[in-house]
Amino acid sequence: MIEIRNVYKSFGSTEVLKDVSLTVQPSRTTVVIGPSGSGKSTLLRCCNCLETADRGEIRINHRTIIADGKPLPDKELNALRAETGMVFQSFNLFPHMTTVENVMRAPVVVRGMAKAEARELAMGLLRKVGLDDKADVYPSTLSGGQKQRAAIARALAMKPKVMLFDEPTSALDPELVGEVLQVMKTLAEEGMTMMVVTHEMGFAREVADTVVVMADGRIVESGSPEQIFTNPTQERTRGFLRALV
Ligand code: ATP
Ligand code: MG
Repeated sequence: MIEIRNVYKSFGSTEVLKDVSLTVQPSRTTVVIGPSGSGKSTLLRCCNCLETADRGEIRINHRTIIADGKPLPDKELNALRAETGMVFQSFNLFPHMTTVENVMRAPVVVRGMAKAEARELAMGLLRKVGLDDKADVYPSTLSGGQKQRAAIARALAMKPKVMLFDEPTSALDPELVGEVLQVMKTLAEEGMTMMVVTHEMGFAREVADTVVVMADGRIVESGSPEQIFTNPTQERTRGFLRALV
């Protein structure tokens, strides 16, 4: 579960998040949409302590990660990162490790898991994302879609309770987008709690329980995909959706 309450964040004199509140219930998927610069990435990064909110409260699975601008102590930060998987637009795989080594690394390094056990876990995850045949190759030989699926498997290796996705398909050629969205859809169906920033409105319609529209650092509207896409109440939502088509 993700609980964001009255969060504010500034970079210098620029207020990037202004009184943002939202809740992602357990096993639900929230898709965040909105124009460039509206604060979507900053909001996700605050949930993973890659940024520290200035004010407000963020709780992940009832662990308070930020209350009134005070970040977590290191030990708790590590626990948070272990429970909160994040997937970015750029895949950030380690180029000098094979696919399976990328996936096994965190369980071995962070959890101290035995290598044989970690490899087995990683192979299971690679099978899940359809990459078991690519286990022993290096990331440079993978397509963008395969890299991103490997990045998802790597995030899942820590058995996160929550997954955060920041435009996971934006860097992909169009024909590779579907295979990544399919993996995400399966995760959602299996009951993962997910917050996804994406411009893929088909995915939002099909998979999201809630769509949140951000503009200028605020949540302007949120509701079911049906409501947001067919009956938006806010002019800013209508303007944003018009600009997409
Ligand atoms: P996009 O759709 O382009 O990814 P976004 O909605 O994710 O946009 P953010 O990346 O959260 O937007 O950025 C929100 C605002 O905060 C922008 O004006 C951006 O320039 C600013 N910003 C983000 N990160 C930093 C930073 N580290 N230092 C200074 N300003 C930043
Ligand atoms: Mg962004």
